[in-house]
Amino acid sequence: IKYGEELARRKRLYNQVQEMKGNIRVFCRCRPLSKQEVSSGYSTIVDFEGAKDGDIGILTGGSTKKTFKFDRVYAPRDGQGDVYADASPLVTSVLDGYNVCIFAYGQTGTGKTFTMEGTEQNRGVNYRTLEELFKISGERKETISYSISVSVLEVYNEQIRDLLATSPSSKKLEVRQAAEGFHHVPGIVEAKVENIKEVWDVLQAGSNARAVGSNNVNEHSSRSHCMLCIMVRAKNLMSGECTRSKLWLVDLAGSERLAKTDVQGERLKEAQNINRSLSALGDVISALATKSSHVPYRNSKLTHLLQDSLGGDSKALMFVQISPSENDLGETLSSLNFASRVRGIELGPAKKQI
Ligand code: ADP
Repeated sequence: IKYGEELARRKRLYNQVQEMKGNIRVFCRCRPLSKQEVSSGYSTIVDFEGAKDGDIGILTGGSTKKTFKFDRVYAPRDGQGDVYADASPLVTSVLDGYNVCIFAYGQTGTGKTFTMEGTEQNRGVNYRTLEELFKISGERKETISYSISVSVLEVYNEQIRDLLATSPSSKKLEVRQAAEGFHHVPGIVEAKVENIKEVWDVLQAGSNARAVGSNNVNEHSSRSHCMLCIMVRAKNLMSGECTRSKLWLVDLAGSERLAKTDVQGERLKEAQNINRSLSALGDVISALATKSSHVPYRNSKLTHLLQDSLGGDSKALMFVQISPSENDLGETLSSLNFASRVRGIELGPAKKQI
């Protein structure tokens, strides 16, 4: 790469990152109508006319339309590469020492896993992120030595499960604050990865482990949060300065409300825990927005785990995923309302980070 080009690229990235700093960005993505929806005769209620300006319109019945504004709007035809290109400056800022958090929010079946994990042919944010981190760290190897490791966790019913552990942990996994100030889960596997091939193996192992012990994989994964943590340790070879930073990539549990009559026993407990963690996430974001002196990170495992990457000078991005179908109108409006509250919120106050 020519020096001038590299400088220009850095400057462009730097400006984009500065623009994103201290805020929660919200990108809205709408999946295509499914085959079943088409065969049931459901029509699309989403209007993408203003999509390039971040506007998305929802036809709420008759001739009424409710418009929401986000930082980006992706129509069903937009691909994984388009989405990743916009998230890239944010995720790669972890190499410059920022803590970052990206999460996918929305009703089950709207594409949260598609956006984050993707498929082997159509890889999502998780894989593309690691691919780019290796690429950039390779380009910088003369000046900075990076070490990258990953952990894959699941939070289900307020319990943390290590998806990379080869045998189930005998003791309960908890979030702790280390002496240096950062939060971690003592005892979890941190797999050091050297190249993208190793990453694929680790992500597959995590994904496979998710299925173990549940009789319905899809149902289980819609009720648990799947969390990938990328830890970056950097040593500047010129100055000797060392930094450590963390990037969380989170596929949240489905945000849908279950019909009250359906919910009993185990399902009730699951539903309460999902509501608890998603509302805890909303509460943390609100507390940060109002610069409240107390941010209730500890009210759920999810927010406690994300503590270093939500608030302070960390950067966050939320994907709000929606269905285009008329029969999902209620859930779509509720997701977009939640996302609108989150958007534009300035994070703060600045906290000391390690
Ligand atoms: P969630 O994780 O929110 O429950 P999934 O990611 O499992 O939803 O998506 C549900 C289905 O829709 C999957 O079959 C997925 O492949 C498909 N899908 C989701 N988003 C898209 C998209 N943008 N383009 C094509 N197919 C999609």
